[in-house]
Amino acid sequence: VLDPAHGGSDSGARGPSGSAESESVIDFARAARVALEAQGFRVLLTREGDQNPSFDDRSAFVNGLADAVFISLHVSSAGPTGTARAYSYAAPPVSATANAQEPDPAAHHTGLIEWDHAQESYLGLSRRLAEFVQIQLAQQFQGSPETPLLAPLRQLRTIAAPAIAIEVSSIAADLSRLTQMGQPLGEAVARAAAAFRQGVSDGTIQP
Ligand SMILES: [Zn+2]
Repeated sequence: VLDPAHGGSDSGARGPSGSAESESVIDFARAARVALEAQGFRVLLTREGDQNPSFDDRSAFVNGLADAVFISLHVSSAGPTGTARAYSYAAPPVSATANAQEPDPAAHHTGLIEWDHAQESYLGLSRRLAEFVQIQLAQQFQGSPETPLLAPLRQLRTIAAPAIAIEVSSIAADLSRLTQMGQPLGEAVARAAAAFRQGVSDGTIQP
């Protein structure tokens, strides 16, 4: 599942010439879809046009699918032009008060997804996926980091599947420069996803 972030009344980051993150990420998602389909993946987008599904709408969309992987696409407002970073989820620091509370024992026996904790069971797989993607991004986009980042990203928290975000720099770049990044970005995502799928199927990647 590819998730072009933002959309509708939420344009995301805005460039000096008026370019919008919400539009660039749609282009990226379309490029990634082509590359992923060439690897035999079934690809769905959380939005095809200028809609703005909520975080929970997007999570519900992917949580209803079996064997899915979720990739949210963003364009940053800053950072070195022509670079890209992958993120997986890290829980924000737990406050002392929250830490002192015992978890609700009943919640562990319902068999239902605890919505707010959905990503917790996938942190390792998501981190591995982010590593695969970042290796490919570093090859396609010189100056990108070699290892992925961790962040408490709201969208990823409620997803019950391996989930990452990719952030391309930056909306300040010429629109043509950004658009040109679509194809190599798609290639990077597709190669990483294929390697991840292989690792899961041969058991070298374990939950
Ligand atoms: Zn964004």
